[in-house]
Amino acid sequence: MRTAGISRARILQDLDDAWEEDLHFRDGRILGSMCTEPAAIARRAHAKFLEVNLGNPGYYPGSRRLERGVLSMIKSMLHAGRGVDGFMVSGGTEANLTALWIARNTNRRKEVLFPSSAHFSIRKAIDLLDLKPVEVELDEEFRMDVADLKKKLSRNAAAVVAVAGTTELGQVDPIDAVANVTRGRAFLHVDAAFGGFVLPFLKDKRVPPWDFRVPGVTSVAVDGHKMGLASIPSSALLLREPSHLGRIAHESPYLTRLKHTSLLGTRGSAAVAATYAVMRSMGRDGYRQVVARCLRVTRFIAAEAQGMGLALAVDPIMNIVAIRMRHPERAVEALEKRGWRTSVARHPSALRLVVMPHVSLARAKEFARDLRAVSERLGEVPPG
Ligand code: PLP
Repeated sequence: MRTAGISRARILQDLDDAWEEDLHFRDGRILGSMCTEPAAIARRAHAKFLEVNLGNPGYYPGSRRLERGVLSMIKSMLHAGRGVDGFMVSGGTEANLTALWIARNTNRRKEVLFPSSAHFSIRKAIDLLDLKPVEVELDEEFRMDVADLKKKLSRNAAAVVAVAGTTELGQVDPIDAVANVTRGRAFLHVDAAFGGFVLPFLKDKRVPPWDFRVPGVTSVAVDGHKMGLASIPSSALLLREPSHLGRIAHESPYLTRLKHTSLLGTRGSAAVAATYAVMRSMGRDGYRQVVARCLRVTRFIAAEAQGMGLALAVDPIMNIVAIRMRHPERAVEALEKRGWRTSVARHPSALRLVVMPHVSLARAKEFARDLRAVSERLGEVPPG
């Protein structure tokens, strides 16, 4: 750092330069991210609450009220009864880690069972908490194989993690069947970091209950900074039995609350306020429309890919298209040269496209043309 500060104008120029270097969702060319441009009202709310620290809630009753408001809206999305409660966290990673931390400290067991499709944050949490990973196989639809779970669930199980909206394919584990096996034997945490703001608003009735309607579900993670259109970092962890938070409580004597039950100490309120603002502004109807629009674009891309002779990994339930390819990483590279950001799925080997609200139908049409050209050149499909 220099001894003297530099002028405001220079700093603003630096910031503009950095902004120019970044990619932006609004260009509609990012199909490899689960985040999107926050809604305008979310930005405004975010900017207003920058100084608030929810880690010291006694100073901030207003922000605390906003957090309660968000949790109550998310509870109603997840069909949660009155007793369910939780708090806002920084993302799916922290929500998953906290859920497993509570499980470990409550039943003092070591094993965590999770489908091989689970997000890598589960492995991070297992590593940090010194737990033992037990990977459960997938069925032919890339969802958790309940027969394999049954075989592997032992008396050492602290928790089972099921996913409602997998990162690679958007698949939903058969959570009711998983709960039948798990109930009374281990915690059952549902990672709905991505699916949480999609599944409640789907018209598609293919998805069986996956939330607090399922009696054995003990906790659910839902991210606002993905399909919730909130700003980063926004996520919620909800617990069927909130008294379990006592298992991770630590004294915080110099603060306005004498015990902390969150991983983070200083906890920002900006994204909490943003989540409150965007959820109140959208309502169920707003989210239904956003999800319906994303699914129309998803189906368009899926149909175009099939029309070129490419095969889908699964029929998309959510706004993710995974196109089977022998060398998806080559397609990612070739598409990047044409200005598109995409990603790969590993199980199965596929080009992975996340169709977030910033991807319009017009952009999808342009993308489909480039996808055809790239797939033909790479020999993934015969020239049309
Ligand atoms: N869980 C799932 C299913 C995810 O898709 C992701 C991220 O994409 C996470 C957890 C981690 O969320 P975050 O990156 O917000 O920590």
